[in-house]
Amino acid sequence: MIEANNPNRKSFVDIEPNSDFPIQNLPFGAFSHKDNSRCGVALGKYVIDLNELQKAGLLENLPEGIFNKETLNDFVALGKETTRNVRNRIAELFDVINQELQKNNTLLVRVLILQSEVTMLMPVKIGDYTDFYSSREHATNVGTMFRDPNNALFPNWLHLPVGYHGRASSIITSGQEIYRPKGQQRPNPEEPPVYGPCRLLDFELEMGFITHQGKDMGDTISIDEAEDYIFGMVVFNDWSARDIQKWEYIPLGPFLAKNFASCISPWIVTLDALEPYRCESPEQVHEPLPYLKPKSNKASFDINLEAIIKPENKTESRVSLSNFKYMYWSMAQQLAHHTVNGCNVNVGDMMASGTISGPTKDSYGSMLELSWQGKNPVLLNDGEERKFIKDYDTVIMRAHCDNGEVRIGFGEVSTKVLPAK
Ligand code: CA
Repeated sequence: MIEANNPNRKSFVDIEPNSDFPIQNLPFGAFSHKDNSRCGVALGKYVIDLNELQKAGLLENLPEGIFNKETLNDFVALGKETTRNVRNRIAELFDVINQELQKNNTLLVRVLILQSEVTMLMPVKIGDYTDFYSSREHATNVGTMFRDPNNALFPNWLHLPVGYHGRASSIITSGQEIYRPKGQQRPNPEEPPVYGPCRLLDFELEMGFITHQGKDMGDTISIDEAEDYIFGMVVFNDWSARDIQKWEYIPLGPFLAKNFASCISPWIVTLDALEPYRCESPEQVHEPLPYLKPKSNKASFDINLEAIIKPENKTESRVSLSNFKYMYWSMAQQLAHHTVNGCNVNVGDMMASGTISGPTKDSYGSMLELSWQGKNPVLLNDGEERKFIKDYDTVIMRAHCDNGEVRIGFGEVSTKVLPAK
């Protein structure tokens, strides 16, 4: 067992029972406090300032100043063994039975900062962003709506994890507002296309994983070693302009409908912390080719996901409850597939799952599916209804795992939509 995951461990720091960040989680992030940017770990309602811990000599065998940075890239580049050791060491330091830090009040004041007093930053500088399309239910729903219910999935879909290269520059973190995108659309197929603000703005309920440094070009990360190259996961809202998408996507796939914004939760929950929530993936219809065949079918994780709409000055309405475990293709399969041709992967690359829809109508991961192309408006509290996302709506996504013994969470990604500029 990974030491930091010990379910019996208790911290001397006061942590609320339903906190996303018990001592068994310890996700990594980057934050700014009093005009200083550095790296930290979440514990209860605090951020642990890793730079202060290192300066005090409590984190050994690491390059000097590795946490005195705006992003985690240099730390993640040290590889899985090091990031695992650091997380284990933090668990040890904050354990109620450990005295190294507990009684040192002057140091504790510097190390523990209230999350409410910091601004969370993008945790990594993302070099490349890949978006997969790995939920069978989602791909089936979209194929049914846009093409043919009898052939909703293209013939390749059940044989490989379909994906495309997205844009890294417009991935932002929780709390930043976005503007409604504008673009070319063709609402009436009998008439010429028009230009204007997107009218069918949608979210996509996804998760993303962030990589360690991969291999050189020409080399392949095998499915059995793939998880050694995955640092951790975030909640990922892949904003989509459905009207722009429908007109532009043939033949090369999404472009301006997707690259105006994607938003992530700021804490990276390590794959190590998710280990106690490992579960089976759905059974695969076709025997995968050997490079996609996992040693064990326990390649997925039981992560509860929710999407919420909060109209301006109104209460939150939950519109979707899904789960990462519905994903047909695992992260290991995605990464093995991504590199099977010799494509290199770098530290801080982001790979998103694709919209995660479950089998029931309340588990669909986009408004496109929830409202079935706008045919069935979704009811919200306070008498509101939505087919797609309106100006000044805030979309919030949250995720957590709970195995009855320990609950860990991801925090949230929250984004408000402003009118087109
Ligand atoms: Ca997507």
